[in-house]
Amino acid sequence: MENIITKYKEKGLRLTPQRIAILKYLDGNTGHPTADNIYRDIKRRYPTLSFATVYNTLQTLKEHGGIMEITIDSMRKHYDPNTTPHHHIICVDCNEIWDVFEDYSKVLRLPPHLTREVRIAGAHVDFYGLCRKCQKRKGVKM
Ligand SMILES: [Zn+2]
Ligand SMILES: [Zn+2]
Repeated sequence: MENIITKYKEKGLRLTPQRIAILKYLDGNTGHPTADNIYRDIKRRYPTLSFATVYNTLQTLKEHGGIMEITIDSMRKHYDPNTTPHHHIICVDCNEIWDVFEDYSKVLRLPPHLTREVRIAGAHVDFYGLCRKCQKRKGVKM
């Protein structure tokens, strides 16, 4: 898989040490961090980092197809450096997000009146659930 920093450079985007830190943080990151997660973690090493820098870098990356913006969490946006099509599942209690690499294209069917109208280009499925930790904390029987 192409390195996210290489991708960024190829677009002719300016790389500052802070931006490189953000890109390194995102590269191969499967935790679906929010802008705030990224800001807090990188700020420890780069005390002069501003939230605006993080946000703007994320927007630039998104516009150039370097990352995906995940909207499964209605409270905040999450970011995913894995731009190959996949689905997500979120724990509705702790908001942790997992990747779902399954092909549902054979299972999902739109009613005929819609397929006559629109040619399907893709589908993204969001799953909602309660993770093992949260089930345990809430005393839910598995
Ligand atoms: Zn949970
Ligand atoms: Zn993902």
